Amino acid sequence: MTPGKRTYLLKLGELTLKRGNKHVFEKILVRNLSAMLKGSAAQTITHDGRFFIRCTGEVSQRVEDTLNHLPGITGWAKVCEVEKSVNAVIEACVKEAQLCVEGGSRSFKLETRRTDKSFPLRSYELNCMAGNAICEALPDFRVDVHKPDAIIRVEIRERAYIYGAEKKGLRGLPVGTAGRGLLLLSGGIDSPVAGFLMALRGMSLAAVYFHSYPYTSDDAKQKVIDLAALLRSYTLGLKLCVISFTAVQQRIKEYAPEEWSTVLLRMAMMECASSVAHYHKCKCLITGESLGQVASQTIENLTCSESRAQLPVFRPLIGFDKEAITKKAVEIGSFPISIRPYDDCCALFSPAHPVLRGNTSTAAQLYSELELDEILHDALQTREYY
Ligand code: ATP
Ligand code: MG
Repeated sequence: MTPGKRTYLLKLGELTLKRGNKHVFEKILVRNLSAMLKGSAAQTITHDGRFFIRCTGEVSQRVEDTLNHLPGITGWAKVCEVEKSVNAVIEACVKEAQLCVEGGSRSFKLETRRTDKSFPLRSYELNCMAGNAICEALPDFRVDVHKPDAIIRVEIRERAYIYGAEKKGLRGLPVGTAGRGLLLLSGGIDSPVAGFLMALRGMSLAAVYFHSYPYTSDDAKQKVIDLAALLRSYTLGLKLCVISFTAVQQRIKEYAPEEWSTVLLRMAMMECASSVAHYHKCKCLITGESLGQVASQTIENLTCSESRAQLPVFRPLIGFDKEAITKKAVEIGSFPISIRPYDDCCALFSPAHPVLRGNTSTAAQLYSELELDEILHDALQTREYY
């Protein structure tokens, strides 16, 4: 644990393009940040369109983890905050340079922004003076204005802020600026990534998992609960609804042509998910489907599946290949959970020779012959929340 005070500067990218309703987006961003940092006593401060967090050293790790999980910022930096005197600024620049050298940088350049024009030095003059002081203190750290390893930034505003290394943010939009969607979350690699990508576009999420006990184990359910918990670290308050789908699967297995079973199951999931979405005020369904990845994801079969959806179906991974999806899953931390070895219900019931290009009228006919209304109604009553 490190004592002392810390200040962080947040950089907002896309938000700054939102002209008219920029303040609405900013308000939601600050609200999200405060909720994510609740109980830490960290303060979020706004000065002329710049966002800062002040906290104690004890909670700095939590603040940094939060900033790494926060949709809506392009970057952040730990800043040194000093009074607006030339000496204090130069001293802070030398300290920052020392940190850059310790981090392996061998060359630097200074960039100053002086919003407060009453500061006695112009930006260029300050760059020269601070640059000289750094070179004197650290003779091996050379100036390179074209391709420096490190950029030391100085901002002279209500106070003086000095910072070197800037960390990349997730970018995107603050969660809560784009309505709410219902994620169909299975235990696989794809659906958590799909949810994450929609959250990055500002969408709040709820999630639904169709569980087929005893065909799928409690470990499979736990995996989905853990995936939902991980997604919650990016999205705040994500509710997971678990619905027992055993009876639906049994009905399909018993009465439907085997090659149609996966497509019919997807249709039932879409229908049931539409009802769940209604309870949670979700305006769309989200799946991890990707074109051509498996037989149920040809354009014809996707069309059959969504024919039972009462809301638009968003498929953010539609054009991604498995390698790109896996890379993203590793980045967001869902991959190790997704590859735990528990089968999902689809694997147990999947046909050896699935229909590849399902016809929508055949699908509708077979689906209605299953007479699922009552079973789906009962399934909905089994819902549990995590
Ligand atoms: P994933 O890695 O997301 O499981 P997948 O490649 O295994 O994807 P499918 O099993 O065909 O693909 O599922 C396609 C999509 O349908 C999933 O991405 C998910 O959105 C949804 N889905 C599948 N099974 C379930 C389930 N048991 N509960 C909720 N949603 C599901
Ligand atoms: Mg799956």
